[in-house]
Amino acid sequence: MIEPTRDELLEEVTRNLASPLNPLRFTPTLEEYYRTTSDRQHRRSLIFATIIGLGILCLFVIVRLSLNTLAPHIERSWEALMAVVAIVCMIALVGVVFARDHRMVDRLIVIVLMVIAILVVEGFRLETGDTVTIGIYCSVMMPLAVSSLAALRFWLAVGVIAFSVVVHAIGVVTMSVFNPPIHLPSILLMVAIGAMGLWGGYREDRDKRRLFLYLTRERLTAGIAQERNAELRTIASRDPLTGVANRRGFEECLASLSENRQRTIALAMVDIDHFKAFNDRWGHPEGDQCLISVALALAGELHGVDDFLARFGGEEFVILIVDDELVDLSSVLDRLLRAVEALAIPSGLASDAFPVVTISIGCAVIEPDDPLSFSAHLKRADRALYQAKTGGRNRWVIAGRCSANCRQG
Ligand code: GH3
Ligand code: MG
Ligand code: MG
Repeated sequence: MIEPTRDELLEEVTRNLASPLNPLRFTPTLEEYYRTTSDRQHRRSLIFATIIGLGILCLFVIVRLSLNTLAPHIERSWEALMAVVAIVCMIALVGVVFARDHRMVDRLIVIVLMVIAILVVEGFRLETGDTVTIGIYCSVMMPLAVSSLAALRFWLAVGVIAFSVVVHAIGVVTMSVFNPPIHLPSILLMVAIGAMGLWGGYREDRDKRRLFLYLTRERLTAGIAQERNAELRTIASRDPLTGVANRRGFEECLASLSENRQRTIALAMVDIDHFKAFNDRWGHPEGDQCLISVALALAGELHGVDDFLARFGGEEFVILIVDDELVDLSSVLDRLLRAVEALAIPSGLASDAFPVVTISIGCAVIEPDDPLSFSAHLKRADRALYQAKTGGRNRWVIAGRCSANCRQG
């Protein structure tokens, strides 16, 4: 069976909820899904029913043996009959455990119920005198009890009960032990009990299906809403142009970092040099393409599991480099500068000083026990960026470190 997608399933469930005219059958795809998903539960009730049935059978045989001490031939014939019924039930139980799909399970149980009906009616023939009435009760009750215990689907139950009524009627009419006046009441009794059992079965099947529809709809809509929320959260925290996180995503990341400040963090503000000139010279669409390439180049240089890149706004990016000691920060910053330069995107300036697009970086190092807030560190990084710009661009500056550390990449 091809598994329907969640949307298809929801559509099917809605369609089935809207058509209450057929409460015992869904549309084909949903019917198949319902049978497959309820299969395990169905099997469980079948196994349960068989075990209960076998228990009752044993009890019945024991009671009869203890009461009927005077009629050994009857005991033997009933014993033989009950043994056959028990064997049939056992075979059904094994079949149900190993059956591959729900159709096989249904077929098995129907065959077993029919065999039981025939066996029980045949049991009349072995009986004489008063004990035959026990046979009649068995013939009425057995298929009915088993079919409701086994939660047989309604239309199958109708078939089984109709079959039992016919077998019972043939048995009663053809056996010489019964007088004609008993024929009709006995058959009517069977029909009445069968009808009552079927009414119960109908309501159970209908209610189970209704419940399945409501629960499935709830489960599917809850799942869809959850996924949409997650999607919306992702969309809200992503920059649609470059695909990296946006300022909101960055703030979420900061919030989670500030809860657990155990490692040194380098906060780097990155700004594309002379980007206005680039736009003016090459056009806005080219400028957008340049932003995408720069974002990709920067992301490609961040190897730490917790390193984070976001577009802060315009042509500015912000990077968090999270490390235990950050001994190699300057080489990471160098790598970032070189990666953008290596893109070799022609710059917007005509002068030879900036033949390709470059970036400037201002960086602030945050130690785990640093009392300053992240926004204060952001300002430090911004000031360092300003220094990198005024220092000639295409370089990095680490805030608070001596000028010897401020070098061109
Ligand atoms: P500096 O080297 O000092 O950073 O100079 P700059 O020209 O890069 O800086 P400025 O702040 O003057 O210009 C930033 C430009 O970035 C202006 C704006 O048109 C451009 N810009 C901002 N967002 C986008 C965008 O989404 N796409 C494009 N194509 N350009 C953008
Ligand atoms: Mg800027
Ligand atoms: Mg700029």
